[in-house]
Amino acid sequence: MRQFNVVVLGAGGVGKSALTVRFIRDVFVENYDPTIEEEYRRPITVDGQLDSLEVLDTAGAEQFTSLNEVYIKSGKGFVLVFSLTQEASLQELDNLRKQILRVKGGDARVPMVVVGTKLDLVNEREVQRHTIENLSRQWNIPFYETSAKRNWHVTEVFEDLLRQMRKY
Ligand code: GDP
Ligand code: MG
Repeated sequence: MRQFNVVVLGAGGVGKSALTVRFIRDVFVENYDPTIEEEYRRPITVDGQLDSLEVLDTAGAEQFTSLNEVYIKSGKGFVLVFSLTQEASLQELDNLRKQILRVKGGDARVPMVVVGTKLDLVNEREVQRHTIENLSRQWNIPFYETSAKRNWHVTEVFEDLLRQMRKY
């Protein structure tokens, strides 16, 4: 069994904590303190192989602080989170992605997954699927549309990331 460090990054309020806690404890937390940063551990079996994920749910108010660099160095894989209900939160991911690649050093293949949250809030949706598909292709990073509230596609995110981390 190997242990992999995963860092969950994205703008404030997009649902990083809800996604992380859904994956770790299988509950939906409606009001998670936005200032709390927490590291969780969970065993997970994918393709018949048991491993352990150490998941850091970040809570930086500022997205491009020097703290990011510390997180990025500590992580093997990254969950880049935006809200499907907030177009601006998707734009921020490009900067995060570039920052990760820069810190990890140029041509290294870095395990990453892009996650659009709050799929259940259909009437508040701002980001169309084709927009994410285009970015995902351009960046060469798989993407998932999820709902932590309804538990839609949450586990798939971490399974995909684990498969990537085993390879690189
Ligand atoms: P963070 O700042 O990125 O950690 O965001 P939180 O996880 O604290 O979530 C911010 C707000 O969005 C909270 O009010 C959550 O209840 C809400 N939220 C998070 N995920 C979902 C979801 O999948 N569906 C719905 N309807 N609300 C969500
Ligand atoms: Mg949070």
